Order: sequence, then C-alpha cells, then structure tokens
Amino acid sequence: MPNKPQESTWRSPIVLADILAARKRIGAKVLRTPLVQSSYLSQASGQPVWLKLEQQQRTGSFKLRGASNAVACLPEEAKARGVVGVSTGNHGRGLAHAASAAGVACSICMSSLVPANKVAAIREEGADVRIVGRSQDEAQVEVDRLVAEQGMTMLPPFDHPDIIAGQGTLGLEIMEQLPQAGTFVIQLSGGGLISGMAVALRAINPTARIIGVSMERGAAMYESQRMGKPTRVEEMETLADSLGGGIGSDNRYTFGIVRELVDEIVLVDEAEIATGIAHAYWQERQIVEGAGAVTMAALLAGKINVTEPTVLLLSGANIDLDLHHRIITDHRPGSSAEGNQA
Ligand SMILES: *Cc1c(COP(=O)(O)O)cnc(C)c1O
Repeated sequence: MPNKPQESTWRSPIVLADILAARKRIGAKVLRTPLVQSSYLSQASGQPVWLKLEQQQRTGSFKLRGASNAVACLPEEAKARGVVGVSTGNHGRGLAHAASAAGVACSICMSSLVPANKVAAIREEGADVRIVGRSQDEAQVEVDRLVAEQGMTMLPPFDHPDIIAGQGTLGLEIMEQLPQAGTFVIQLSGGGLISGMAVALRAINPTARIIGVSMERGAAMYESQRMGKPTRVEEMETLADSLGGGIGSDNRYTFGIVRELVDEIVLVDEAEIATGIAHAYWQERQIVEGAGAVTMAALLAGKINVTEPTVLLLSGANIDLDLHHRIITDHRPGSSAEGNQA
C-alpha cells in the first residue's frame, strides 16, 4: 500500500484483548460456524484451501457478531432509549436481531436501492424499518434526526471499535479451527470485517498474509488506499450489493487499519462474482450471496497466489433466491455457458 508510515509510529486502535473481551460477551449469542476444506479448490491450487462458512451464521451474515458486541457494550440508559442504524441490509438485519435478543428497541433506516428480500428480513427481526432516499447518505439524515430527537444510539456498520472487535472474533475462531492457516482471503467494503479479523490473525500469527477482495463496481476502500485518504466512488448496482457504499469522509478506524494490516486488495468483476456464486452451489453445496462469493471468485479467476494453507471467508447468504436460481442455471457445469458443451 502507498503512503505507509514507519511501522513503529502506528498503534492499532483495536487490540487482541478487545476481541477476546468481545468473544466473552457474544459467545453464547452467535454460532461457531464450520471451517471445511474444499477438495475442488485445494486440487486446483495445489495447496489446502478451506472455506469458513460464516454465511451459515444466524441472520445470514457475520454482521451479527459486531452488532451483538456493540449492543452488549452500551450503558443501561442507552439501551433503554434504543439503537438505530443505516444499512444496505446485513448490518440492519444483524443489528435488529442483536437488539431484539437484548430487549433493546431498534430502528433501521435504508435507501430504496436495498433488495426487497433484505427489507422483509429486517422487519421480521422486529425492527422499525424506514426507507429514505436513494443513497446511504440520505438515509443517514433520518438516523441523525432519531438520535437528536429521541436520544437513540447510532451504531454504524463498520467504523466503530465495538463493531470491529465483534467481527474480529471470526479471526479467533479460524485460528482455533486451523492453526496452520497462513493466507486469509476476506471481503472488503467499509473494512470493519477485515480490520477486526486482521488484528486477531496478526496477533496470533505475525506472518499471516491478509488479502482483501472488493468488486470492481464501486471499490471505495481500494480507491481510498490508492489516493491515501478516504475517497468517494460512485455507487453502482452490483451482484455484491453488500459491499456497496463509501468508507466515510470522517473515517476514524478502518482506513488506517486496512492501510497497515492488509497486504493486498484484489478486485473482481460481475462475471467473476457470478462464477463464484455458481461454484459455491455446484461444487461446495453452499448458497452464498454475491459479496460472500467474491473470495472464491478471486481464487477461481487466478487473482490469488496460493502458496500455503489458505482460508477463504464466505461472509453472507442473503441473496434473492430468484436471482440465485438464474445465476446457477446460467452456470450449470457442462452447459454451453461454461464453454464446455458436449
Ligand atoms: C458488510 C458485509 C461485508 C463487508 O464488510 P465490511 O466490514 O463493510 O468491510 C462483506 N460481506 C457481507 C455479506 C457483508 O454483509
């Protein structure tokens, strides 16, 4: 990464002790998801490749970890006034579930670009859902109003120490399940996920190689790192809709952690993401959303150099099932779309 300051001057704002404390708080509230070896990807890479099946987490994504930790960390008077979030879907769902499990009121504000299946899922978690505008920024205005007028606490999707520490519990889990793992391929959007995981992984294995994967269409953190400061990119429709959105011009935590701890950022295009979703289904028997599939997409596209035992994270499952059906049908093994028609 460019613009890297001297190593000795940088101290991570989140440390292993924060992540161990998070695990104590949320251990009973989240599932310990399976880590399984992929025989197909291991054979194709010549090294053992493992999949962390976090898309099987309650609420269909890892976001439940950070949200549960952040809610548990609130003082009692804040819990009594409730929490509010702005979300493209999975953070909203995780936060709604975490709040309801803790008996805390929850409002979720989102833009009209969020897929209907995700909106319905959040309503089912018992949250008060508000659809405002066509971007996360417009939905944020409603959040600010609820905070100012009703004293609710805003819990953001990634740039918050308790959220980052909660996501970091995934790193602890993987190191317990596979101590010999050396390379970790992780989704990257706002960077809460990869920041928490990188802190845990590097604390346990100082030579851990950490690779972030974003989609080409709207890779805000990639562009921000390239420019050396938080940078806006145009929001575009993508199969990896859970990776959409900016990193915030006032980013306090994740920009710096990604700059220091992430070795490489890889981008995948829409066709590669579709191939990843189809691979997950036909070869691994997993239903994975676009964002969850970008790690497999990057490997299958030859964009990851696999030189040691490698873990690919599958981060979410919340895809519209009609869309999923179309993608796997178009990419059925042996069909002409795969180019190996009999
Ligand atoms: C939020 C999300 C990500 C990205 O997490 P960040 O902390 O924003 O980098 C990846 N995959 C899924 C399924 C998500 O919901």
